[in-house]
Amino acid sequence: MAATIIDGKAFAARVRGQVAEQVAVLRTAHGIVPGLAVVLVGQDPASQVYVRNKGTQTVEAGMASFEHKLDVATPQAEILALVARLNADPAVHGILVQLPLPAHVDAAAVINAIDPAKDVDGFHISNVGLLGTGQKALVPCTPLGCLMMLRDHHGDLSGMDAVVVGRSNIVGKPMAQLLLGDSCTVTIAHSRTRDLREVCRRADILVAAVGRPGMIPGDWVKPGATVIDVGINRVPHPDDPARTRLVGDVDFDSCAAVAGAITPVPGGVGPMTIACLLANTLTACCRAHGLAEPTGLTA
Ligand code: NDP
Repeated sequence: MAATIIDGKAFAARVRGQVAEQVAVLRTAHGIVPGLAVVLVGQDPASQVYVRNKGTQTVEAGMASFEHKLDVATPQAEILALVARLNADPAVHGILVQLPLPAHVDAAAVINAIDPAKDVDGFHISNVGLLGTGQKALVPCTPLGCLMMLRDHHGDLSGMDAVVVGRSNIVGKPMAQLLLGDSCTVTIAHSRTRDLREVCRRADILVAAVGRPGMIPGDWVKPGATVIDVGINRVPHPDDPARTRLVGDVDFDSCAAVAGAITPVPGGVGPMTIACLLANTLTACCRAHGLAEPTGLTA
């Protein structure tokens, strides 16, 4: 069986297009421009690339982008003061503090200082609680992107057996909550799970969010299952060890031979993350102004 390849790049472009359309309506009908503020502390190269891409895509969607680049040694009190200013700024509807933060900063204190209504990463403890209790929240972008792809592929997910490998606060746990919200029967697996192969083989939907290159082989996958590979791992290139390439947490070739559908790496979940950040910013803006929420762009 050859799996359907779920094209995250194309799907993300579609989501960005939907966001841009609704942003244009907000602008013309209400004179409102959604704004996203991104705070970057330090010069971590990967974070700089993410922040640049976020800024570019925010502007392309017709939104306002506010970038705040702070020195790596910026005291926590100064970061908190900036967050307080952004909370109070009516032009800012979404605030994202790029993680990781330097070691001298208490990341939880900074994240929990963000106004939950502007917390477009969905990491604030209030949004975590709202999601966990099935209430209207801002939802972490990567799992939201996975959910959108699954809904797009399957329609109704109700009653499906879902296994999420990984229990991090940013991917595994919110992913499991979202699948539960869509009435899947959900298992969360982790490093202490016994007989992970058998657990994975039960899954109609298998989400891998581990950070270990190719750890899930094809014989862990139930024939016909949908495999969502969240992992982004940089490994030596097979043809040239001086170069690197990106691979996921599943062994793509053997899993694609068994699965019904699968996301590739790169070009699967990755592009959906920024698309969902834009969607969350639009949602936060609509909620702030008491307007109808965008359809198809929320959990
Ligand atoms: P974390 O390191 O925070 O969590 C990894 C999870 O995997 C933990 O729960 C851990 O279990 C579990 N785990 C580790 N080893 C095993 C094992 N041998 N068997 C079963 N479970 C195991 O990672 P993240 O959730 O932050 O990220 C996961 C992956 O997703 C990474 O590759 C990351 O780069 C990628 N990612 C991709 C994004 C995107 O935009 N596409 C966004 C965010 C992350 P335990 O809790 O027991 O230690």
